[in-house]
Amino acid sequence: MPLIVQKYGGTSVGTSERIRNVARRILETQRAGNSVVAVVSAMSGVTDSLIQLAQEITPQPTDREMDALLATGEQTATALTAMAINALGGHAVPLTGWQAGIITDSLHTKAKIHDIVPSHIHEYLQKGTIVVVAGFQGQTATGQITTLGRGGSDLTAIAIAAALKAELCEIYTDVDGIFTCDPRVVPKAKKIEVIAYDELLEMASSGSKVMQSRSVEFAKKFNVPFEVRSSFNNNRGTVVKEETPGMEDVVIRGVSVEKNQAKVTISHVPDRPGSASHIFNTLSETNVVVDVIIQNVSESGTTDISFTINEDDLEKMGPALDSAVAAIGAGKVAKRNGIAKLSVVGIGMRSHSGVAAKLFEALSRGGINIQMISTSEIKIAVIIDESLAAKAANLVHDAFHLEN
Ligand code: ADP
Ligand code: ASP
Ligand code: MG
Repeated sequence: MPLIVQKYGGTSVGTSERIRNVARRILETQRAGNSVVAVVSAMSGVTDSLIQLAQEITPQPTDREMDALLATGEQTATALTAMAINALGGHAVPLTGWQAGIITDSLHTKAKIHDIVPSHIHEYLQKGTIVVVAGFQGQTATGQITTLGRGGSDLTAIAIAAALKAELCEIYTDVDGIFTCDPRVVPKAKKIEVIAYDELLEMASSGSKVMQSRSVEFAKKFNVPFEVRSSFNNNRGTVVKEETPGMEDVVIRGVSVEKNQAKVTISHVPDRPGSASHIFNTLSETNVVVDVIIQNVSESGTTDISFTINEDDLEKMGPALDSAVAAIGAGKVAKRNGIAKLSVVGIGMRSHSGVAAKLFEALSRGGINIQMISTSEIKIAVIIDESLAAKAANLVHDAFHLEN
């Protein structure tokens, strides 16, 4: 019997009525002649409320306890979903991440999956039972509960589909698929029919949080094609798969916007080997992820270095950066939040020229100043003022005619 792995996100299981809707869809899939493993997220808002509760207890809860707490959100949704299936006359069992055999490393709150030992899942499937697995969680080899980073139920679904060699992996969410830009930002955004892993990976890691970027990385590594679609209708969604030759004909697949960024500028950095290395080594020890970096032309032996980070990391980075700046004898540090990154992504960029010119022209028409630019083989990103991000996304979307 073909095996289908389905994942239902937080909004899709957000109320008891929506859980019943999900249960009906799962049962229909089984009745069409398939074995089904359903991965569910916590009901929408639950993970955020749990984080809030923890903050009320202590401003710095330990990561291990956070994982023990956050994992409960998915367990609730799993039990309710299995109950709903059983109430409709089906036969389902809820499994936690560890019951499902998901083994991770011990990096609490963003653990990586090491292995999946799906013996329980197999036993239930063989009996014709629907297996409902709690997303976003696993356990270490020594039995500690871990979670897989925000949005991690996507990763659970992809990893289980890979481990069980599923025929099909479907990611059900609250939009019809992956759009040319977040439809909440660009109302004219259009559903993409097919997208390559690399394109979605660039979009997901630059603000299009429709899929967790680590889950896309995993899908690419183990070649797990999947479809992103809506749990509210039966429309076809977006197929995500390996790149095929025709895909390069489309120059730009989509636009991403990432808000809540901050820009840090260090002036008068001594222009000699080791300066940048000292600054960024110090930052890496604080686990702050640095994104775009630019260094100016050197004048009279010193230069300016600017970089962007997540706004939330500004405070955490402060003391380490100050000590690095003092150690190398650099000048002042200027910090600015309210920054956004806008990226255009497409594998067609490799074989088409003029993409950067068109992007810059669209922004200039809107009077939007570009503060930094970064490029990769299939992406051009600009750093702009956060208050202009939505306007910029709409202008750029129009300029590349992505609505057609
Ligand atoms: P789920 O709870 O199902 O995991 P998410 O909230 O994580 O759902 O992801 C779906 C949301 O992603 C959509 O509601 C949409 O606002 C947002 N999104 C951001 N970028 C895109 C995009 N390019 N295409 C579709 N949705 C996007
Ligand atoms: N509940 C988790 C979160 O809100 C995981 C997920 O929804 O995928 O991030
Ligand atoms: Mg999600």
